Amino acid sequence: MHRIAWLTVFTLAFPGCATAETSEDMIARARGIHDRVISVDTHVDIPPNFATRAYDPMKPGPRGQQVHIPTMIEGGLDATFIIVFVGQGPRTESGYAKALSDAFVKFAAIHRVTKDMYPDQIELALTADDVRRIDASGKKVALIGMENGYPMGKDLRLLDQFYDYGARYFGLIHTGHNDLGDSSVPNRRTNEPDEEHGGLTDLGRQVVHRLNELGIMVDVSHSSKQTALDMIAESKAPVIASHSSLKGVYDHPRNMSDEELMGIRDANGVVQVVAFDSYLRAVPQGKQDAIAELWKSMGIESFGDFRRLGEEALKIYDTEMAEIELEFPKAGIKDLVDHIDYAVRKVGINHVGIASDFNGGGGIAGWSDASETFNVTLELVHRGYTEGQISKLWGDNLLRVLADIEAYAQQFKG
Ligand SMILES: [Zn+2]
Repeated sequence: MHRIAWLTVFTLAFPGCATAETSEDMIARARGIHDRVISVDTHVDIPPNFATRAYDPMKPGPRGQQVHIPTMIEGGLDATFIIVFVGQGPRTESGYAKALSDAFVKFAAIHRVTKDMYPDQIELALTADDVRRIDASGKKVALIGMENGYPMGKDLRLLDQFYDYGARYFGLIHTGHNDLGDSSVPNRRTNEPDEEHGGLTDLGRQVVHRLNELGIMVDVSHSSKQTALDMIAESKAPVIASHSSLKGVYDHPRNMSDEELMGIRDANGVVQVVAFDSYLRAVPQGKQDAIAELWKSMGIESFGDFRRLGEEALKIYDTEMAEIELEFPKAGIKDLVDHIDYAVRKVGINHVGIASDFNGGGGIAGWSDASETFNVTLELVHRGYTEGQISKLWGDNLLRVLADIEAYAQQFKG
């Protein structure tokens, strides 16, 4: 039944087609496209125990983790930016030192996977050419992005070290304002005001310049609108939004306004539309209430609190959440592609890409982990995107920006 309904829709959508494509043919065509293009997911988080026995990227688990090498193979996901993320904490010397050491733990884990544990399966890419070479060799591609500038404290020299460790994009800000600029989401627990600096700080401007010189992409995701616009104005090379959707479809503080979207286009950058349930559409009030009630009953105040929950408590949480999800399903692939369609209509096919935010709250119905990546391509094909366009969305645009920043930085290399 489902297939027939779908076929009818497709035939109606393309009434001029001499011979209508059957749904089986379309799936086969989408498979071919998915196999040929390079798919780059620009945002996959890792916990501090990544690349240990507790989270072995070749084996399923631990709880809730959505990306492993076998699931990337199953879903035809070719490359992922693995994220060195540290949550915003106190802006004190000891706070910076702790954040820096947490960041190094994650850098080390990514190098451990690609150099010691599974060098035959996955390789670290440092350039756009590396991505294409490694993909052609049949291995999976790892790249490194940083999320939150907090670990650098006020020491610009650390950016050189992050570059040497392989960081190729750098998000200056996360939840909560920091020394570099304002966040799109102030820290409500510490009663932060909506704005602290009114945009990018002087230190933030210096960071943007140094990132340009090093050849690290500037990432505006998580920044306030003014901070993002300041970064776009300040940067001499294209900037990205590594994982943000569009305010024009759903007005969420984490999404890009049309002004930011067009600024990124004018700078020849790219917005990586993210498969994050609550950014794609309004989460039903009943679901929000049910989750709030569950968190309250278990004493959870933020995502950080999950780390101190015992195995039993996590099991209870997962069972309860599964029931809530059954009643109120997550946003789906169609919601994701609605945001992609909007961005493409607004700024053209050359400035739009795709991100999951897996392991960091991302994942939707139909793309709930790396093994389901093909479903995104199938929906794009269903909506009439060509292979060339899908190739741009899945990776060519992002790799163009990476190559542009490499070329820009060349003049500063010794
Ligand atoms: Zn994020």
